Amino acid sequence: MNKLDLGIIGVGHLGSIHARLAAESEKINLVGVFDLDRERAEKAARDSSTECFRDMHALLEKVQGVSIVVPTSEHHSVALKALDYGCHLFLEKPIASSVDQARDIVQKAREKNRKIQVGHIERFNPAILAIKDHPLKPMFIEAHRLSTFNPRGCDVSVVLDLMIHDLDLILYLVKSPVTHVDACGVAVVSREEDIANVRLKFASGCVANITSSRIALSPMRRMRLFQQNQYIALDFQEKKADIFKLTDQDTIPDPGCKPAVVSRIGVGDNARDVIYEKPSPPEVNSLQMELEEFAKAVVHDLEPEVPGEQGLMALETAANILEQIARP
Ligand code: NAD
Repeated sequence: MNKLDLGIIGVGHLGSIHARLAAESEKINLVGVFDLDRERAEKAARDSSTECFRDMHALLEKVQGVSIVVPTSEHHSVALKALDYGCHLFLEKPIASSVDQARDIVQKAREKNRKIQVGHIERFNPAILAIKDHPLKPMFIEAHRLSTFNPRGCDVSVVLDLMIHDLDLILYLVKSPVTHVDACGVAVVSREEDIANVRLKFASGCVANITSSRIALSPMRRMRLFQQNQYIALDFQEKKADIFKLTDQDTIPDPGCKPAVVSRIGVGDNARDVIYEKPSPPEVNSLQMELEEFAKAVVHDLEPEVPGEQGLMALETAANILEQIARP
Protein backbone atom coordinates (compact mmCIF):
# COMPACT_ATOMS: atom_id res chain seq x y z
CA MET A 1 0.00 0.00 0.00
CA ASN A 2 1.17 3.53 -0.72
CA LYS A 3 1.94 5.41 2.45
CA LEU A 4 0.25 8.65 3.43
CA ASP A 5 2.64 11.59 3.80
CA LEU A 6 1.47 12.97 7.13
CA GLY A 7 2.37 15.98 9.26
CA ILE A 8 1.31 16.53 12.87
CA ILE A 9 0.37 19.98 14.10
CA GLY A 10 0.30 20.30 17.89
CA VAL A 11 2.43 17.79 19.78
CA GLY A 12 1.31 18.32 23.36
CA HIS A 13 -0.19 15.51 25.45
CA LEU A 14 -2.12 13.73 22.66
CA GLY A 15 -0.23 15.00 19.60
CA SER A 16 3.06 13.49 20.81
CA ILE A 17 1.28 10.09 20.92
CA HIS A 18 -0.06 10.70 17.39
CA ALA A 19 3.53 11.36 16.30
CA ARG A 20 4.92 8.21 17.92
CA LEU A 21 2.18 5.95 16.51
CA ALA A 22 2.37 7.53 13.05
CA ALA A 23 6.15 6.98 13.05
CA GLU A 24 5.62 3.30 13.94
CA SER A 25 2.93 2.73 11.31
CA GLU A 26 3.65 0.93 8.04
CA LYS A 27 0.82 2.85 6.40
CA ILE A 28 2.10 6.33 7.22
CA ASN A 29 5.20 8.29 6.27
CA LEU A 30 5.60 10.82 9.08
CA VAL A 31 7.08 13.87 7.33
CA GLY A 32 7.39 16.08 10.39
CA VAL A 33 5.80 17.91 13.30
CA PHE A 34 5.05 21.52 14.13
CA ASP A 35 4.09 23.13 17.45
CA LEU A 36 4.09 26.77 18.57
CA ASP A 37 6.09 25.51 21.55
CA ARG A 38 9.53 24.86 20.00
CA GLU A 39 10.83 22.71 22.83
CA ARG A 40 7.83 20.39 22.63
CA ALA A 41 8.12 20.17 18.86
CA GLU A 42 11.83 19.31 19.07
CA LYS A 43 11.25 16.66 21.72
CA ALA A 44 8.39 15.05 19.77
CA ALA A 45 10.48 15.11 16.58
CA ARG A 46 13.43 13.49 18.39
CA ASP A 47 11.21 10.84 20.01
CA SER A 48 9.58 10.00 16.67
CA SER A 49 12.76 10.32 14.56
CA THR A 50 11.16 12.91 12.30
CA GLU A 51 11.76 16.51 11.22
CA CYS A 52 10.87 19.45 13.43
CA PHE A 53 9.41 22.27 11.30
CA ARG A 54 9.86 25.88 12.44
CA ASP A 55 7.16 27.05 10.09
CA MET A 56 3.73 25.42 9.79
CA HIS A 57 3.39 26.48 6.14
CA ALA A 58 6.62 24.69 5.21
CA LEU A 59 5.16 21.49 6.69
CA LEU A 60 1.79 21.96 4.99
CA GLU A 61 3.55 22.27 1.63
CA LYS A 62 5.18 18.85 2.03
CA VAL A 63 2.29 16.62 3.13
CA GLN A 64 -0.93 15.09 1.78
CA GLY A 65 -2.62 15.03 5.17
CA VAL A 66 -2.25 16.57 8.62
CA SER A 67 -3.27 15.44 12.03
CA ILE A 68 -4.45 18.52 13.93
CA VAL A 69 -3.98 18.07 17.67
CA VAL A 70 -3.98 21.67 18.88
CA PRO A 71 -6.43 22.93 21.55
CA THR A 72 -10.03 22.82 20.26
CA SER A 73 -10.21 26.64 20.15
CA GLU A 74 -7.44 26.53 17.48
CA HIS A 75 -8.96 23.77 15.29
CA HIS A 76 -10.80 26.24 13.04
CA SER A 77 -7.85 28.45 12.10
CA VAL A 78 -5.36 25.60 11.67
CA ALA A 79 -7.85 23.45 9.69
CA LEU A 80 -8.67 26.28 7.28
CA LYS A 81 -4.96 26.96 6.69
CA ALA A 82 -4.29 23.28 6.04
CA LEU A 83 -7.19 23.17 3.56
CA ASP A 84 -5.68 26.20 1.77
CA TYR A 85 -2.64 24.00 1.15
CA GLY A 86 -4.86 21.18 -0.16
CA CYS A 87 -4.30 18.88 2.83
CA HIS A 88 -6.71 16.18 3.98
CA LEU A 89 -7.52 16.56 7.68
CA PHE A 90 -7.46 14.27 10.66
CA LEU A 91 -9.00 16.59 13.23
CA GLU A 92 -9.12 15.74 16.92
CA LYS A 93 -12.47 15.78 18.70
CA PRO A 94 -14.54 17.86 19.16
CA ILE A 95 -14.30 19.00 15.53
CA ALA A 96 -14.34 22.70 16.58
CA SER A 97 -15.34 24.89 19.50
CA SER A 98 -18.56 26.12 17.87
CA VAL A 99 -21.09 24.75 15.41
CA ASP A 100 -20.48 27.70 13.05
CA GLN A 101 -16.75 26.99 12.99
CA ALA A 102 -17.38 23.29 12.38
CA ARG A 103 -19.75 24.09 9.48
CA ASP A 104 -17.08 26.37 8.02
CA ILE A 105 -14.47 23.62 8.10
CA VAL A 106 -16.82 20.99 6.61
CA GLN A 107 -17.98 23.41 3.91
CA LYS A 108 -14.44 24.39 2.90
CA ALA A 109 -13.31 20.75 2.81
CA ARG A 110 -16.24 19.96 0.49
CA GLU A 111 -15.37 22.86 -1.80
CA LYS A 112 -11.74 21.75 -1.94
CA ASN A 113 -12.70 18.09 -2.29
CA ARG A 114 -10.61 17.14 0.75
CA LYS A 115 -11.42 14.47 3.34
CA ILE A 116 -11.94 15.02 7.05
CA GLN A 117 -11.78 12.34 9.70
CA VAL A 118 -12.70 13.42 13.23
CA GLY A 119 -10.88 11.83 16.18
CA HIS A 120 -13.87 10.12 17.78
CA ILE A 121 -11.57 7.40 18.99
CA GLU A 122 -14.23 5.26 20.70
CA ARG A 123 -15.44 4.16 17.25
CA PHE A 124 -12.21 2.15 17.21
CA ASN A 125 -12.58 0.81 20.73
CA PRO A 126 -12.45 -3.02 20.61
CA ALA A 127 -15.86 -3.13 22.40
CA ILE A 128 -17.49 -1.30 19.46
CA LEU A 129 -15.47 -3.19 16.83
CA ALA A 130 -16.68 -6.44 18.44
CA ILE A 131 -20.33 -5.61 17.66
CA LYS A 132 -19.73 -3.93 14.29
CA ASP A 133 -21.57 -6.63 12.35
CA HIS A 134 -24.18 -7.33 15.03
CA PRO A 135 -27.75 -6.33 14.02
CA LEU A 136 -28.65 -3.31 16.15
CA LYS A 137 -31.91 -1.49 16.72
CA PRO A 138 -31.55 -0.10 20.23
CA MET A 139 -34.68 1.26 21.89
CA PHE A 140 -33.09 2.26 25.21
CA ILE A 141 -29.47 3.18 25.89
CA GLU A 142 -27.85 3.90 29.22
CA ALA A 143 -24.35 5.42 29.06
CA HIS A 144 -21.94 6.29 31.87
CA ARG A 145 -18.63 8.01 31.27
CA LEU A 146 -16.99 8.94 34.55
CA SER A 147 -13.44 10.08 35.16
CA THR A 148 -11.49 11.31 38.13
CA PHE A 149 -10.65 15.01 38.23
CA ASN A 150 -7.88 16.30 35.92
CA PRO A 151 -7.58 20.05 35.28
CA ARG A 152 -6.68 19.33 31.60
CA GLY A 153 -9.85 19.73 29.53
CA CYS A 154 -11.65 21.80 32.19
CA ASP A 155 -11.66 24.88 29.94
CA VAL A 156 -14.75 23.35 28.28
CA SER A 157 -17.89 21.73 29.66
CA VAL A 158 -17.84 17.98 30.40
CA VAL A 159 -20.38 17.77 27.56
CA LEU A 160 -17.70 18.78 25.02
CA ASP A 161 -14.86 17.01 26.78
CA LEU A 162 -16.31 13.56 27.66
CA MET A 163 -19.99 13.29 26.71
CA ILE A 164 -19.20 14.07 23.07
CA HIS A 165 -17.68 10.56 22.78
CA ASP A 166 -21.02 8.98 23.77
CA LEU A 167 -23.02 11.42 21.64
CA ASP A 168 -21.02 10.40 18.57
CA LEU A 169 -21.33 6.68 19.40
CA ILE A 170 -25.06 6.88 20.10
CA LEU A 171 -25.78 8.84 16.89
CA TYR A 172 -23.76 6.23 15.00
CA LEU A 173 -25.55 3.29 16.67
CA VAL A 174 -29.12 4.65 16.56
CA LYS A 175 -28.96 6.17 13.04
CA SER A 176 -32.07 8.30 13.59
CA PRO A 177 -32.55 12.04 14.14
CA VAL A 178 -32.78 13.45 17.67
CA THR A 179 -36.28 14.82 18.33
CA HIS A 180 -36.04 15.90 21.96
CA VAL A 181 -33.32 16.89 24.41
CA ASP A 182 -33.66 17.18 28.16
CA ALA A 183 -30.51 18.03 30.09
CA CYS A 184 -29.07 19.24 33.35
CA GLY A 185 -25.52 19.99 34.37
CA VAL A 186 -23.61 21.35 37.34
CA ALA A 187 -20.28 23.21 37.52
CA VAL A 188 -19.09 21.71 40.81
CA VAL A 189 -15.39 22.62 40.87
CA SER A 190 -14.66 24.41 37.59
CA ARG A 191 -16.35 27.23 35.65
CA GLU A 192 -18.05 24.86 33.18
CA GLU A 193 -20.22 21.80 33.89
CA ASP A 194 -18.27 19.00 35.58
CA ILE A 195 -21.22 16.63 35.60
CA ALA A 196 -24.17 16.37 33.23
CA ASN A 197 -27.12 14.10 32.60
CA VAL A 198 -28.99 14.06 29.31
CA ARG A 199 -32.05 12.28 27.96
CA LEU A 200 -32.23 12.16 24.18
CA LYS A 201 -35.28 10.98 22.24
CA PHE A 202 -34.93 9.80 18.66
CA ALA A 203 -37.42 9.64 15.77
CA SER A 204 -37.04 5.82 15.87
CA GLY A 205 -38.54 5.85 19.40
CA CYS A 206 -35.18 5.13 21.03
CA VAL A 207 -34.34 6.94 24.27
CA ALA A 208 -30.76 7.46 25.49
CA ASN A 209 -29.91 8.40 29.04
CA ILE A 210 -26.33 9.68 29.25
CA THR A 211 -24.35 10.62 32.36
CA SER A 212 -20.88 12.14 32.16
CA SER A 213 -18.73 13.28 35.05
CA ARG A 214 -15.12 14.39 35.47
CA ILE A 215 -15.29 14.52 39.24
CA ALA A 216 -15.92 10.84 39.94
CA LEU A 217 -14.02 8.89 42.57
CA SER A 218 -13.33 6.05 40.17
CA PRO A 219 -13.44 5.86 36.37
CA MET A 220 -16.09 4.05 34.33
CA ARG A 221 -16.88 3.99 30.61
CA ARG A 222 -19.90 1.82 29.96
CA MET A 223 -22.86 1.68 27.62
CA ARG A 224 -25.84 -0.66 27.79
CA LEU A 225 -28.15 -1.14 24.83
CA PHE A 226 -31.59 -2.72 25.04
CA GLN A 227 -33.50 -3.87 21.97
CA GLN A 228 -36.13 -6.46 21.22
CA ASN A 229 -34.97 -9.81 22.65
CA GLN A 230 -31.50 -8.48 23.43
CA TYR A 231 -29.33 -6.72 25.97
CA ILE A 232 -25.84 -5.64 24.91
CA ALA A 233 -23.32 -4.42 27.48
CA LEU A 234 -20.24 -2.52 26.30
CA ASP A 235 -17.30 -1.71 28.54
CA PHE A 236 -14.93 0.72 26.81
CA GLN A 237 -12.44 0.65 29.66
CA GLU A 238 -12.23 -3.15 29.75
CA LYS A 239 -12.60 -3.22 25.93
CA LYS A 240 -15.25 -5.92 25.92
CA ALA A 241 -18.81 -6.61 24.80
CA ASP A 242 -21.36 -9.01 26.30
CA ILE A 243 -24.57 -9.97 24.52
CA PHE A 244 -27.57 -11.58 26.18
CA LYS A 245 -30.25 -12.85 23.76
CA LEU A 246 -33.66 -14.36 24.21
CA THR A 247 -33.76 -17.08 21.62
CA ASP A 248 -35.72 -20.02 20.24
CA GLN A 249 -34.06 -23.41 20.46
CA ASP A 250 -33.39 -23.61 16.74
CA THR A 251 -31.90 -20.10 16.41
CA ILE A 252 -28.38 -20.28 15.03
CA PRO A 253 -25.94 -18.26 17.15
CA ASP A 254 -23.65 -15.67 15.54
CA PRO A 255 -20.55 -17.27 14.04
CA GLY A 256 -17.37 -16.50 15.92
CA CYS A 257 -19.11 -16.38 19.31
CA LYS A 258 -19.14 -18.98 22.02
CA PRO A 259 -22.76 -19.00 23.15
CA ALA A 260 -23.84 -20.44 26.48
CA VAL A 261 -27.37 -20.86 27.77
CA VAL A 262 -27.52 -18.95 31.05
CA SER A 263 -31.18 -19.31 31.99
CA ARG A 264 -34.69 -19.95 30.76
CA ILE A 265 -37.35 -17.22 30.93
CA GLY A 266 -41.13 -17.54 30.57
CA VAL A 267 -43.67 -20.27 31.29
CA GLY A 268 -44.57 -23.52 29.50
CA ASP A 269 -44.55 -23.30 25.70
CA ASN A 270 -43.58 -19.63 25.87
CA ALA A 271 -40.37 -20.31 27.78
CA ARG A 272 -37.24 -19.26 25.93
CA ASP A 273 -33.55 -19.61 26.57
CA VAL A 274 -31.38 -16.67 27.48
CA ILE A 275 -28.15 -17.12 25.58
CA TYR A 276 -24.92 -15.35 26.49
CA GLU A 277 -22.50 -14.50 23.72
CA LYS A 278 -19.08 -12.99 24.11
CA PRO A 279 -17.80 -11.69 20.77
CA SER A 280 -14.01 -11.63 20.61
CA PRO A 281 -12.87 -8.00 20.50
CA PRO A 282 -9.93 -7.42 18.14
CA GLU A 283 -6.66 -6.48 19.82
CA VAL A 284 -5.95 -3.05 18.39
CA ASN A 285 -4.46 0.25 19.42
CA SER A 286 -7.48 2.50 18.78
CA LEU A 287 -5.44 5.64 18.09
CA GLN A 288 -3.13 3.91 15.64
CA MET A 289 -6.11 2.26 13.95
CA GLU A 290 -7.94 5.55 13.46
CA LEU A 291 -4.81 7.18 11.98
CA GLU A 292 -4.31 4.20 9.67
CA GLU A 293 -7.98 4.27 8.62
CA PHE A 294 -7.49 7.95 7.75
CA ALA A 295 -4.39 7.04 5.71
CA LYS A 296 -6.38 4.32 3.92
CA ALA A 297 -9.27 6.70 3.16
CA VAL A 298 -6.88 9.24 1.58
CA VAL A 299 -4.68 6.79 -0.30
CA HIS A 300 -7.61 4.74 -1.67
CA ASP A 301 -10.05 7.63 -2.00
CA LEU A 302 -12.60 6.13 0.44
CA GLU A 303 -15.12 7.71 2.80
CA PRO A 304 -13.39 8.17 6.20
CA GLU A 305 -14.80 6.13 9.11
CA VAL A 306 -15.82 9.29 10.98
CA PRO A 307 -16.36 11.97 8.32
CA GLY A 308 -16.50 15.69 9.15
CA GLU A 309 -20.31 15.69 8.80
CA GLN A 310 -20.59 13.17 11.66
CA GLY A 311 -18.21 15.20 13.83
CA LEU A 312 -20.44 18.20 13.10
CA MET A 313 -23.58 16.24 14.04
CA ALA A 314 -22.09 15.24 17.41
CA LEU A 315 -21.13 18.87 18.05
CA GLU A 316 -24.61 20.14 17.06
CA THR A 317 -26.15 17.69 19.55
CA ALA A 318 -23.69 18.83 22.24
CA ALA A 319 -24.58 22.47 21.48
CA ASN A 320 -28.31 21.68 21.90
CA ILE A 321 -27.55 20.06 25.22
CA LEU A 322 -25.51 23.05 26.41
CA GLU A 323 -28.35 25.37 25.39
CA GLN A 324 -30.79 23.31 27.47
CA ILE A 325 -28.45 23.38 30.46
CA ALA A 326 -28.04 27.17 30.19
CA ARG A 327 -31.81 27.70 30.19
CA PRO A 328 -32.98 28.83 33.65
P1 NAD B 1 -2.24 20.00 24.85
O1 NAD B 1 -2.49 21.35 25.43
O2 NAD B 1 -1.51 18.99 25.66
O3 NAD B 1 -1.47 20.15 23.44
C1 NAD B 1 -1.80 21.11 22.48
C2 NAD B 1 -0.51 21.55 21.77
O4 NAD B 1 -0.87 22.42 20.69
C3 NAD B 1 0.45 22.34 22.66
O5 NAD B 1 1.73 21.74 22.59
C4 NAD B 1 0.45 23.76 22.06
O6 NAD B 1 1.70 24.40 22.17
C5 NAD B 1 0.09 23.48 20.62
N1 NAD B 1 -0.56 24.60 19.92
C6 NAD B 1 -1.49 25.46 20.39
N2 NAD B 1 -1.92 26.27 19.40
C7 NAD B 1 -1.22 25.91 18.29
C8 NAD B 1 -1.21 26.38 16.94
N3 NAD B 1 -2.01 27.37 16.55
N4 NAD B 1 -0.36 25.80 16.08
C9 NAD B 1 0.47 24.80 16.46
N5 NAD B 1 0.52 24.31 17.74
C10 NAD B 1 -0.34 24.86 18.62
O7 NAD B 1 -3.69 19.46 24.41
P2 NAD B 1 -4.16 17.94 24.21
O8 NAD B 1 -4.66 17.41 25.49
O9 NAD B 1 -3.09 17.19 23.48
O10 NAD B 1 -5.45 18.16 23.27
C11 NAD B 1 -5.32 18.53 21.91
C12 NAD B 1 -6.63 18.20 21.18
O11 NAD B 1 -6.89 16.79 21.30
C13 NAD B 1 -7.88 18.90 21.71
O12 NAD B 1 -8.73 19.20 20.63
C14 NAD B 1 -8.53 17.85 22.59
O13 NAD B 1 -9.93 18.01 22.69
C15 NAD B 1 -8.20 16.60 21.83
N6 NAD B 1 -8.18 15.40 22.70
C16 NAD B 1 -8.84 14.30 22.26
C17 NAD B 1 -8.86 13.16 23.06
C18 NAD B 1 -9.58 11.94 22.56
O14 NAD B 1 -10.00 11.14 23.38
N7 NAD B 1 -9.73 11.76 21.27
C19 NAD B 1 -8.18 13.13 24.28
C20 NAD B 1 -7.46 14.28 24.68
C21 NAD B 1 -7.48 15.42 23.87
